[in-house]
Amino acid sequence: MRMAGYDVLVVGAGLAGLRAAIEARKFKVNVAVLSKVYPTRSHSGAAQGGINAALGDDDHWEKHAYDTIKGADFLADQDAAEIMCQDAPGDIIELEHMGCPFSRTPDGRIAQRPFGGAGFPRCCFAADKTGHVILHTVYEQALKSGVQVFSEWSVLSLVIDDGQSSGVVAINWATGEIRAFNAKTVIFCTGGYGRVFQKTSNALVNTGDGMAIAYRAGIPLEDMEFVQFHPTTLFGSNVLVTEGARGEGGYLVNTEGERFMTRYAPSKMELGPRDIVARSIETEIKEGRGFPGGFVHLDLRHLGADLIKKRLPQIRELIMDFTGIDCIDGPIPVQPGAHYSMGGIPTDNDGAGTVPGVYAAGECACVSTHGSNRLGGNSLLDTIVFGRRSGKHAAEASHGMEMPSIKDSAVAAVKSELDGIRNRKNGERVSAISRELKTVMMDKVGMFRNENDLREAAAKVAELKDRFGKVAIDDKGSVFNTDLQGALELGYIIDLAETIVAGAIERTESRGSHFRTDYDTRDDERWLRHTLAFRTESAPRLEYKPVKITKYQPEERKY
Ligand SMILES: Cc1cc2nc3c(=O)[nH]c(=O)nc-3n(C[C@H](O)[C@H](O)[C@H](O)COP(=O)(O)OP(=O)(O)OC[C@H]3O[C@@H](n4cnc5c(N)ncnc54)[C@H](O)[C@@H]3O)c2cc1C
Repeated sequence: MRMAGYDVLVVGAGLAGLRAAIEARKFKVNVAVLSKVYPTRSHSGAAQGGINAALGDDDHWEKHAYDTIKGADFLADQDAAEIMCQDAPGDIIELEHMGCPFSRTPDGRIAQRPFGGAGFPRCCFAADKTGHVILHTVYEQALKSGVQVFSEWSVLSLVIDDGQSSGVVAINWATGEIRAFNAKTVIFCTGGYGRVFQKTSNALVNTGDGMAIAYRAGIPLEDMEFVQFHPTTLFGSNVLVTEGARGEGGYLVNTEGERFMTRYAPSKMELGPRDIVARSIETEIKEGRGFPGGFVHLDLRHLGADLIKKRLPQIRELIMDFTGIDCIDGPIPVQPGAHYSMGGIPTDNDGAGTVPGVYAAGECACVSTHGSNRLGGNSLLDTIVFGRRSGKHAAEASHGMEMPSIKDSAVAAVKSELDGIRNRKNGERVSAISRELKTVMMDKVGMFRNENDLREAAAKVAELKDRFGKVAIDDKGSVFNTDLQGALELGYIIDLAETIVAGAIERTESRGSHFRTDYDTRDDERWLRHTLAFRTESAPRLEYKPVKITKYQPEERKY
């Protein structure tokens, strides 16, 4: 089936994608959303803690911007961070008017809780199910506005002709059909890549498809070496325990019963920024003050049953399901896990990428508001603010553009790549390569890095990339071929791992989430700049671009 095409084609139906689609529809353009999973199964729905906005009488968007930029260890583009924080209150009120059921204060306002690295309790929430309720709200609004949704379709390639995007090629997992989607503008909203790492809070679908697809189409990826490890994921499963648990007053405790954050971030304690808290936990474990297996305790018992049941009901349930512990009565075993990708597809403040017609928003984009470390509650905000802005800008840009037409050869190239994997006999196993990749990334490219480890990781990733060229699968069919899907996703995370390692080797400093034990201080003179990784036939080629500073001069980060 071949059809005319779309003015705005959104790839991904998480918060960024659906918010972009709703906005684009306001401009009376033809909008479709393609999503690998059913929209409300997107990882946005797993967000627990909340979404930041300076709504309080004594708060101000400039304080929010300063906290964001300081939390980012001064690598954020300050104009972008200012836009995000300035737009935040209006966007939250708009979500409320769409019907989003936020938790309330006794006098009926939107309730806000303290979050890490923030100088003010500015994290709006709906108990500990914030992402779930916002995602359902925007999905309803997207359907109401007439957005066409293609669910369980994966984009496989971005087609660029004469320096301009002409749309995508995608597969329908239910039938195996592969077809072109002509589009004047494409907005990538495909989320993060936590699944590059062995221990992660991310959903199985978070394999960074959009970033890898853009990279393969010649678009550089920005700041990929910056990977956020969340301090508190459950030992064993790495299911997330929201920062909201510490926001409500939870303690982190080592084997000696000590609240060890007194030694690392004496003024903010458990609510220091994530990079610092995660490294502190890892240090406690490495220095022998962790529990056998490698975890510390998150203790909520002193908060009392009432508060836990009211403010953290989902967390309590998850902890019981995965560990058998009721956090009202016992401490929770936690360890850090890969959580968020600060880097991604470079965009301007309206979501426009480096190729005309290509936009990106949400976790797959790098605007860059989060620099080298994102603050909790700022990602949901980023999806809403920059989702909206990219939807508007793409819709406006589509007016007056000719509808492009994807050549048959672009579809044929994708089919032949898939047939190559499907028809190969006796090749490498997806599961083996995947396990080796995740292990090396966790062990050598995690919270503490050094040159030797990084070079070993680079060699291993190159070897795995080579072996991936000979990968084979068992399922040769076309209906819900998850075997094939797994192989394609493995290809994406290998490409992304390559960019993460390359950026980390070159960056001989420590900044935010990127900590080098052999270069343990920040070096603004050489490294106050963004990395851009371009794909080549061998290792990525790196270029750099300056960080935009408005009025916040870099200073030492102390908490
Ligand atoms: C457990 C957890 C808790 C979190 N809690 C918070 C929090 O409290 N506050 C906060 O600010 N942030 C939080 N975050 C981070 C935040 O939730 C995410 O960064 C954000 O929701 C990402 O939204 P997104 O729209 O960019 O992507 P996602 O919600 O991940 O959606 C990605 C979409 O892309 C689609 N997709 C992917 N690949 C393809 C493809 N090839 N073709 C077609 N479609 C594709 C998927 O189907 C999906 O619809 C949390 C993250 C996790 C993992």
